[in-house]
Amino acid sequence: MGGVKIKSLFLGNSNAFLVASGDEVALIDAGLGNRSKRILEEANRLVSNFAGLKYIFITHAHYDHVGSVNGLKESGQPKIVAHEKEAENLRQGKSPVPAGTIWLSKQISWLGCMIFHHCIRFKGFEPDLLFSQRLKLKLGENEIECFHCPGHTEGSICIKIAGNIFAGDSFFHLLPGRIFPPFANDVKELYRSWQKVLQERPTRIFPGHGKPFSAGLLRHCLGLRKTI
Ligand SMILES: [Zn+2]
Repeated sequence: MGGVKIKSLFLGNSNAFLVASGDEVALIDAGLGNRSKRILEEANRLVSNFAGLKYIFITHAHYDHVGSVNGLKESGQPKIVAHEKEAENLRQGKSPVPAGTIWLSKQISWLGCMIFHHCIRFKGFEPDLLFSQRLKLKLGENEIECFHCPGHTEGSICIKIAGNIFAGDSFFHLLPGRIFPPFANDVKELYRSWQKVLQERPTRIFPGHGKPFSAGLLRHCLGLRKTI
């Protein structure tokens, strides 16, 4: 198994990642708003013979992680991969306002529920591949493994390829040394998912917001939690 090329894209307010193995390219998350032209330009630069995105992995059904999906669907036939528990929200274009985990984000969540009536809308789409616990796929000569990581949302997933884990909003790494997300519907589940991520022995973890970080930082932050 060879290495992979990773290109981080900051799309609006969230991270998306292009991952290439050989000439095959996958996208992890699709940002805020339709930025499909830029994504395709970057993919084209990443490999020598770009023939369209093979997969788009959606880590969870939040409006700021799905913005370019419809635009990208029009320009090729990428398979959209998500967890089965996010499928209905993806079809209907519903992004439920998540619960806050600290005082400030609890106020933001409360305000969001008042303004958006508990749901922020986006243009829905039909996912192609759904799974429950684990899903294995191929990208070039590399294996991609998706696994269920609930907590931020019920159907949040992580995607592992060549030791790298793309974790969506299970982590926010906006401040040095801090990876706890300001929003999560179930904090106990979230910590269980953090353990799952650590058990995968990742070399690098890429969050939905902020900079990538090491398994060492995750181990340290989990150690600060006495009971899970
Ligand atoms: Zn989110």
